[in-house]
This record gives sequence, structure tokens and C-alpha cells, in this order.
Amino acid sequence: MISKIDHLGIAVPNLEEGIEIYKSMGFEYCGREVVEEQNVETAFFKIGESMIELLAPTDPSSPIARFIQKNGGKGGIAHIAVNVPDLKSKLESLKKAGLQLIDETPKTGAHGASIAFVHPKSTGGVLFEFCQKKDQ
Ligand code: ZN
Repeated sequence: MISKIDHLGIAVPNLEEGIEIYKSMGFEYCGREVVEEQNVETAFFKIGESMIELLAPTDPSSPIARFIQKNGGKGGIAHIAVNVPDLKSKLESLKKAGLQLIDETPKTGAHGASIAFVHPKSTGGVLFEFCQKKDQ
């Protein structure tokens, strides 16, 4: 079962500036973390049970660097992440349903969560991240 939106992933060209903007809007800041596997540095803001995840590239090869480049040098909503209790079996059922997976096997995201992306080509244009929390 998909239980909730875990977070909205928002690309920002500069993480410090992004953090200041979200703080000035009154969002509760929860800290930052480099995610080596994705070549990004993230910053989290809590909204009830969900989060906003700001993503800034740490390397030009990062998918977030390509997103910002395609978007005329600006940030924007990069992905929607939802929680699932068992990511491996979810990926199998997504494959069976004919959806194109970017990650056939789970990768490690922020906070040690297991994550996998589904290609926007097969979801009507939205990049979805399925994630299983470390403690789930
Ligand atoms: Zn994410």
C-alpha cells in the first residue's frame, strides 16, 4: 500500500539560497545531507508527516544538474516520493504493470532509505520515487 507522500523533491541551483528561501517562508528546517550515490546534497523541511527535500547537484553529472540545465538554469519540482512498506516487491509489481523503472534495484537515498525512481515517460510526465524507510 502507498501510505503517504514522503516528500516532494525540489531542485535548487544553490542549496544555501534554497534553505534561506524555505526558512523565510516558515518551513521547519531539519538539516542537510550529502547523498553520494545520487551526486546531490539535500536539505529537509518538515510539513506534518511529509517533507520537502531540496536537492542541489554536487557534480555536473548529477541528474539534478541536468534538470536545472533543462529548466533554463532554474530549480523546480523534480519528483514526488511516496512510501511503500516493501520496495523490492513494489518494484516487481510496477514492472509487471509495464512501467519503466529507472532503478531496477533499490538505491540508497537520504536518511539511509531504500529508493527507486520510475521513469516519467511511463507515468504521464511525473518522476516518481518509491521509498522504504530504514526502520520499515
Ligand atoms: Zn527524493
